[in-house]
Order: sequence, then structure tokens, then C-alpha cells
Amino acid sequence: MRTGYDLELVHVTKRYGNTVAVRDLSHVFAPGSYVCLLGPSGCGKSSTLRMIAGHEEVSDGSILLDGQDVSYLPPAQRGTAMMFQSYALFPHLSVRDNVAFSLRMKGVEKATRHARANELLELVDMTHLADRLPAQLSGGQQQRVALARALVTQPKVLLLDEPLSALDSFLRIRMRAELKKLQRELGITFIHVTHGQDEALALADEIVVMNDAVIEQAGPAREVWATPTTEFVARFIGGHNVIALDQGKVTVRADAVTLADHGMAATVTAVEYQGASVVVTTMTETGDEVLALLPEAQFFNAPKNPGDAVKLAWDEGRLHRLRA
Ligand code: ADP
Repeated sequence: MRTGYDLELVHVTKRYGNTVAVRDLSHVFAPGSYVCLLGPSGCGKSSTLRMIAGHEEVSDGSILLDGQDVSYLPPAQRGTAMMFQSYALFPHLSVRDNVAFSLRMKGVEKATRHARANELLELVDMTHLADRLPAQLSGGQQQRVALARALVTQPKVLLLDEPLSALDSFLRIRMRAELKKLQRELGITFIHVTHGQDEALALADEIVVMNDAVIEQAGPAREVWATPTTEFVARFIGGHNVIALDQGKVTVRADAVTLADHGMAATVTAVEYQGASVVVTTMTETGDEVLALLPEAQFFNAPKNPGDAVKLAWDEGRLHRLRA
């Protein structure tokens, strides 16, 4: 069985008047992978997603899906489907008719489209609520309907624009597990836009970090986390220190920093207890803020307070040089 299709962006640029939202972006998305486009607000994530979907035209460059240039095809003919942040369900249609809607637009006859809609409702575990209206559903249930509706056209790639942002934190964590499971079952590529690094780490096979209209770094989630290549990525992904040393700027993970008898002199500025670990924030003599994430037992063997002088140490192997 075929699982997944190639999606490739080739020198894609998006301009809105004088604003360059996406600048000469090239990337190959691995078939059947869960990809998160991660970056701060305004960096060009949604524009990238909308160009893939066909809701926005490319200004330059091309988009290839399954070997075909889809850059100028209308959304419905591309083989992509989009799930919006707001879900955009039709309030006057039942759950089943919402899911079947795009098949109705394509002229698929009623019995067939209802049968397909029922299959998708089964997939997202919503069969029992098929006759309800959207207003009679919880946020999580509405999201499942929106997912079923996007998947009913059997897309080669599913595009999700901040799909979890409307949910409370408890539901968000549950729904992200469901998204991941669904992607595994379907075997198609999911491209998920988020500004949350936790969400990207939890979901993604590959993380594409964007900043200021370009890709800063792309790679497997663990690789981006373990070895950020730029200062921006190191700071944005969290849990890393950026330190200026004689040999240049480096990063070291907060959990690789320990307090020792010898090392870089610093002063404790804050101590935060987090349960399993304690975050000790320090300021070095050269003015870099350095965080040490210590196992709680280790911290309480020799507790520190703000104002205490400490020595920061790490294994040389844990330092990563940043791209200039
Ligand atoms: P993100 O999804 O990362 O928040 P966007 O792709 O929405 O970023 O926006 C990237 C840049 O393009 C921003 O500067 C934004 O203001 C601008 N932009 C987005 N959409 C439009 C539009 N329809 N018209 C003009 N500028 C836009």
C-alpha cells in the first residue's frame, strides 16, 4: 500500500505589496510525516500553509505534490485539505452533512456521500453525534468534525493552521495525542502550524523553524532540540543557554549545566522549584544569563539562594557552536 506523497516547495516567495511574508523558501517534506511549522507570530507560517493549500497564490516559485506542479491549481484540485483554527463548520448543517459537504459540491450522490461521511465519523469517534448541529457540540467534538470534514476528500496532505489554539490546555494535550494517532493511521503527511514549541516537540517527526520569512532550521524534532544551529532557534526552542565564550557564541542545554567547585563564575538571580527539577537562574561575570536545570535531589543536597556565588560547569561535549 502506498503511504504518503512527496510535497516540495521550490524557491517559494510570497509578497503582499511591499511586505515579503515568505522569502525564497525551498523544502522537501518527507512522505507520510508529521511536520510542524514553528515560529513566532508574523514569521510567515500561515502564508506558507495557505500557498500549499491554494488559498493564496505564490508570488514566485512552485509547489510540487506527488510529482505534479500544483502552484496554480484551485484548492479542491490539489490533493490537499485544510483544517482551520476556527473549524468553520456550517451552523445550520448536521455533523454528518458538514462532513459530507465537499462531496455534495462535487456532485457525489447522497447515499455514497453519507456512507463516506459515516466512515470518517467512525474514524474520529463521532458516529453517535452524527445528527447533532455544531452548536450542540463541545470544542473538542467540533474539532473532530472539522478533521473528518477535511479528510473526507482523501487528501494527500492535510494542512492544519493552529488547530489546537481554541482549546483549553487539558483538551489541547488530549487532542494532540489524537492528531498524532490519526496521522499514523492514515499515513499521509500532516503539516501543522504552531507557535508553541512544546506542541511541536510533542507532535512532530520534523520541525521546520521559521523566522522572518525564512527557514532558520529544519530537521527531526530531537535534532532541532539537541543541536539548534542559530541563536534564534536556541532561544525560541527553550531550555538552552546562549553563552559568549572566547572561541565564539555557543549553546549548552540547561540540563547539561551543573554547579561545581570549579567553572565559570556566576551569581544566582532566581531559584524556581518545578517538582522533579529545580531551575537555578544565574548571571555570569560577562553578563550572560545561564540557567541550570538540576534534579531536585541534587539541588537540595546543596541548596542555593539568590545572591549566592556559584561556579557553572558542563562537559565540553555538550557545547554546540552556533552559526555566525
Ligand atoms: P504567521 O502565520 O507566522 O503569523 P503570516 O504568514 O500570517 O505569519 O504573516 C507573515 C507576514 O505577512 C506578516 O508580516 C503579516 O503581517 C503579513 N501578511 C499576512 N497576510 C497578509 C495579507 N493578507 N495582506 C498583507 N500582509 C499580510
